[in-house]
Amino acid sequence: MRIPIHAVHPDTGEAEIIGWVHEVRDLGGLTFLLIRDRTGIIQVTIPKKKASESVLAAVKAVSRESVVRVSGPVKPIDKAPGGRELVPDSFEIISLSGSPMPLDVVEKVPADLDTRLDARFLDARRPRVSAVFQIRSTVTRSVYEFFFSRGFINITTPKVVAAATEGGTELFPIAYFEREAFLNQSPQLYKQMMMAAGFEKVFEIGPIFRAEEHNTTKHLNEATSIDMEVSFADHLEVMNILEDLVITTYKTVADQCGDQLSALEIPDLPVPEPGFPRLPYPEAIEIAKRTTGEDIKYGDDIGTVSEKAIGEEMGVHYFITDWPTEIKPYYAQPYEDDPSVCKAFDLMHPRMELSSGAQRVHRHDQLVHQIRAKGLSSDSFEFYLNPFRYGMPPHAGWGLGAERLVMTMLGLSNIREAVLFPRDRHRLVP
Ligand code: ATP
Ligand code: MG
Repeated sequence: MRIPIHAVHPDTGEAEIIGWVHEVRDLGGLTFLLIRDRTGIIQVTIPKKKASESVLAAVKAVSRESVVRVSGPVKPIDKAPGGRELVPDSFEIISLSGSPMPLDVVEKVPADLDTRLDARFLDARRPRVSAVFQIRSTVTRSVYEFFFSRGFINITTPKVVAAATEGGTELFPIAYFEREAFLNQSPQLYKQMMMAAGFEKVFEIGPIFRAEEHNTTKHLNEATSIDMEVSFADHLEVMNILEDLVITTYKTVADQCGDQLSALEIPDLPVPEPGFPRLPYPEAIEIAKRTTGEDIKYGDDIGTVSEKAIGEEMGVHYFITDWPTEIKPYYAQPYEDDPSVCKAFDLMHPRMELSSGAQRVHRHDQLVHQIRAKGLSSDSFEFYLNPFRYGMPPHAGWGLGAERLVMTMLGLSNIREAVLFPRDRHRLVP
């Protein structure tokens, strides 16, 4: 625990701390308490013979995980956490915790993920869990600063929408007065419309909703997407920005989150090297074919097994480029010299996909053609298509999953570890 400076009296070295009772150990003549807050743990030592009646009464009454206010001199001592202890002159119980608790905060009793998520407020008192969300907060700040420092405009787009971004069945329908509406699966169409508005560089960090019934360790039904779009840029330019953003974010966490990384037993966060390899799709599936022995053909999507196999071979962050137009969304721009291949890319961590992006189609008639080629009706896209009739600049962009970024950075085994209150197939509470 970092003792707040203002709480330490300059002459006496007396300090006042407020926190949760992490552990109590009674050794007869001495009682040791560990008091915890989000910055760490400090030992409070009560010599029974010397302590006041009121301190002894409070220590006797207190239970683990109660909130207490303790004051007294702080002394250096070798064996205690942080190398010091506080010997209390006063000990006040601010909020007594009930027991037994739904979850053991000191992790002596292991708990499965479901139990932990049910009691997330207790789970998040655990230094390791708290560290993940403190790091996620730093990641978010770093991403905002990255975009602002490069002249991006932050936008907010609707999450309640009338039409799907890409068609398909991955939408949550909701009742919107007399009509049916949906929770948006991506800000894609809206950020493109802001290119027609002349905003040039936009970004948004917001929720996306996917009704896929998958129950995997890397999918959520409500996730956070870091989205950006840039005018007069091609896919190569926005890939460079994406690579810079990932490296900058790792650097910021490595520089600023030392205590939290230690809590996670990551003494040195390895920052990815610049120059992420760019692997054309045909080469990627060749690797998948060779290493998995499966019959993978040109035009197949890269599934979880292939993704893992290619990732193992690559060993670092990399891009998959030059995708078949057929398996990427209608808004991806085909190459002029070979329209069967498009200017789309995925950013991959060796474990999984982190981001998808592309240079976009910016010509109205071509876009209508590509929407129809996917078997979709252009009528329901009128609000989106209209801006393409009145001066749409060429543009490119991407969407990056915030939880996957944090999950892969910290080596978390399940994406739910990177969300405070995950929404999945079975979880809607808390
Ligand atoms: P995947 O193939 O891994 O399911 P996707 O290709 O369907 O992902 P995109 O539509 O390309 O996902 O979304 C861009 C990024 O948003 C993804 O690379 C991922 O990081 C994140 N993302 C998308 N869907 C989810 C989800 N259900 N849960 C968590 N993150 C997601
Ligand atoms: Mg994708």
